[in-house]
This record gives sequence, structure tokens and C-alpha cells, in this order.
Amino acid sequence: MGRDFISFLNASPTPYHTVDNVKHKLSKNGFQELSERISWAGQVEKGGKYFVTRNASSIIAFTVGEKWVPGNGISIVGAHTDSPVLRIKPISKKNNEGFIQIGVELYGGGIWHSWFDSDLSIAGRVLIKQDGKIIPKLIDIKKPLLKIPTLAIHLDRDVNNKFEFNKESQLLPIAGLSNAAPKANDTNLAKEHSKGGCCESTPISNENFTSLQTVVQRHNEQLVELIAKEAGSTVENLEDFELILYDHKPSTLGGLNDELIFSARLDNLTSCFTAVEGLVESSSSSNSLKEENGIRLVSLFDHEEIGSSSAQGADSNFLPNILDRITGLTGVPEKDLESSIKSYILESSAKSFFLSSDVAHGVHPNYTNKYESNHKPKLGEGPVIKINANQRYVTNSPGIALLKEVATRGQVPLQLFVVPNASPCGSTIGPILASKTGIRTLDLGNGVLSMHSIRETSSTVDIEKQIKLFKSFYENFTTIEPTILIDGV
Ligand SMILES: [Zn+2]
Repeated sequence: MGRDFISFLNASPTPYHTVDNVKHKLSKNGFQELSERISWAGQVEKGGKYFVTRNASSIIAFTVGEKWVPGNGISIVGAHTDSPVLRIKPISKKNNEGFIQIGVELYGGGIWHSWFDSDLSIAGRVLIKQDGKIIPKLIDIKKPLLKIPTLAIHLDRDVNNKFEFNKESQLLPIAGLSNAAPKANDTNLAKEHSKGGCCESTPISNENFTSLQTVVQRHNEQLVELIAKEAGSTVENLEDFELILYDHKPSTLGGLNDELIFSARLDNLTSCFTAVEGLVESSSSSNSLKEENGIRLVSLFDHEEIGSSSAQGADSNFLPNILDRITGLTGVPEKDLESSIKSYILESSAKSFFLSSDVAHGVHPNYTNKYESNHKPKLGEGPVIKINANQRYVTNSPGIALLKEVATRGQVPLQLFVVPNASPCGSTIGPILASKTGIRTLDLGNGVLSMHSIRETSSTVDIEKQIKLFKSFYENFTTIEPTILIDGV
């Protein structure tokens, strides 16, 4: 399973690729695609498996138990598809001292010094004009195109004591040498460029008017050509793109016994992968949903690293809308639909549970004083329950009691984590969705080192453990949940 996860990591350099890979995995396992653009009346059936995407960077998948009745509970595992990265700016064309440079914008709270001296490639989503329409294409150039070079130690003797840099002017990648590029009049792009650009002073006639400079005018010509080629199109048909930089060095197993994983994006592809595997495994046999009276659901959101506020982030209406749709439609008698739907949704929410999965801080052997002395989660010893009295993590004791029983049935060890009182505490999608939906929630995740570095480290066996935990959650939730009653009868 460790090697499957490595393949997933290497195939998922951006949230768009992650969602695409999850879609393929689900489709191969009998899940059908739904669209938010149309009514779901008659489309969702008991025993069925489905998924739906938003912006192609967030995805929700679910299975409906054959004994599901409206008002029953939903077992949810949620995670995020994005990671801190450098993203190509809307106008990225730069040249300095004979170097081609590409302007980049910071996305999220990365450990940016870790990006220096790494070989960087480019991947993302490109919009192509085709047959009168604009269609998206995923690209991954898979070549070491860029580098953010450090300054030689001879020019900064203090660098090992203090490494400081300007995020605008010094975290700026080089992409080659200007004099190595083909001469402008050798390329078709030169003709394109000469039609008008930022420096063009000749008046533009009405027929040639465009509201925005073309991609060729805004970005390095050779880069644009490469992007168009990767997308199987031409520069003329390249409408726009959202492209990010990533570490060209592939993810790999590491350590003396392959017990470690060295990779970018462990935060939070670890949770995306294990949640989807858990859902697929829990519904893979022909009778797995026969006795099930609940709905099992995975929700993976974009934009967690920047606060989750967007149309497809965890703070959007994506999950609430999907819960409304499936709770209202599945098995509700036609005549009761109008009057009962709201009541069913409320009952269902009160019986549901959300596992908010995001990576945790595994204890770092060289910085043990940064951890609370009784709460030092170890890599390889199982998923970590995250607790915070100030509700940066929303775990409480009924949730722990539930997860403990889930983990006992799945034979999965668990660990506990709080931050020391003197330390700030991170957060995740758990509190956002708990306050938005009112659904009981617990925060957990596998331990990693160097969270938000371009190269993080985690444990191979923890992948299997977290999959087993989520599988057990999906298979056992509806029998355990009624035994832990806090409110009502
Ligand atoms: Zn995260």
C-alpha cells in the first residue's frame, strides 16, 4: 500500500490532478459521476455509489446503504486537496542579468526556504479553445525547468546562522538564459507577439480589440509554447491557465527498511488517499452495502491552506448542499417530499459524524522540547487524535469514545496530541464544518515531520493503519453511534 500511495503522490502535483486521480479510482470501483448543474431526482438509489466535483479541485463521494431511510446518519471523512506552493503570476514574464525568470505568487504558509535549490517543474490546469468552446486540460511538464538559487556562502558568510530573504525579489525562480533562447524572429510566437503587447504603441482597430493581453504577451514565449504542447494544443488556442511549481524530485520510500516516506504534499494527500481507500474498500464486496442503513461519504476540499473561504473550500456550501440533496432525495416518498425534507435533513445531521483528517505533528527527535511532554505522537504508531481546549481542533470526549471503539474493531492503535500552552495551535477544516453544519466532529491525522516544507517525512505503516481506521469507521459507525447518546433520547 505504501507504493500505491507513492504513485498517487507522484501523479498528483496539484489539486486538479488529485481530484482527477480520485475520480478515476472511484469510477474504476463502480462509482457514478453526478453534476451539481442538474436535479438529482431519480438519480440516487439505495445501494448506489456516487461522486460529484466542484471546480474540479474539490470532490465529494458517497455510498448509500440498501437499508438507508431518510433521517439516518452519515459517516463522513473530510480532508483537503491543496498544499502550500508557488503559483505562476498572471503576468510572469521577467528577465534580469541575462536570466529568464518567472514571476510567482506564494500560496499558503509554506516553509519557503525549503524551495531554494530544489529542481522545480510546472503542473496545473490549462484552458484551451476548441470547437467554439473553452475546455480544461491538465498538464504536468515533468521536467526540471526552474530553480530558486541560494547565494554562494562566500557572498554571505552568515548564512548558516541566519537565512533571510525577500519573498518578492529573492524567492524568484530562474528558467534559463536569455541568450540560449531561440531568436525571436525564428519563432511563430514572434509574429504573434509583434501584433501588440504591453509595449505596443500603434493604435488597435476595433476588430483586433481584446480586453486582456494574450498569454503570449504576459508570459515567457518558450514557456507558453511548452504549455500549449503539453496540453495538445497550440499557442493561439491557449486561453489561460492556473499553474503551480512543484519539486521535480519524485516521492519515494526511505529509511533503512523503507519505513519512511519522503515527499512533497504529505499534507494532506495522506488523508485524501486513505479516506478514499477506506471508502472504496468498505464498499468493494457485492454485499457490503446490503445491511448498511447509513450513507458513507468522503469530502475533499481545495483552499484549506488559505482559510477555506471560496466557492469550493470547506467554508462554502458544497458539503451542506450535497447533504441536503442526498438526504432529501433518497427514498423519500414523493407525496411527503415537500413537508418532510427539512425534518429529515435535521434528523440526519444530528445522527451524523465528521472525521476531519489532516496531518499531525509527529515528534521530531531534534526538537523534543517543542512538544508537550505527555503528548509526543510517534511516526509509525498510528493515527493521532488532535485535541485543543480552544477548539482549534474540535475533538471532544464523546467523539474520542466513538473513535476508540471504531479503532478497536479495526485493530488500529491511536495516539493523542495537544500543543504546549506556550505554543500557537494550527487548525483545519474541522472547526469550520462543525460550526457550519452542527455535525459532531473529531480532528485526527497521521504524524509527519517538516509540515509545509517542500519535502515532508512520514511513516509507511501509518498509511495502512489510517486506511483500516477509516474502513472500520464506515463499516461500524451506524452500529456504534446509537450507543453514545449525549443529547435527547
Ligand atoms: Zn493540512
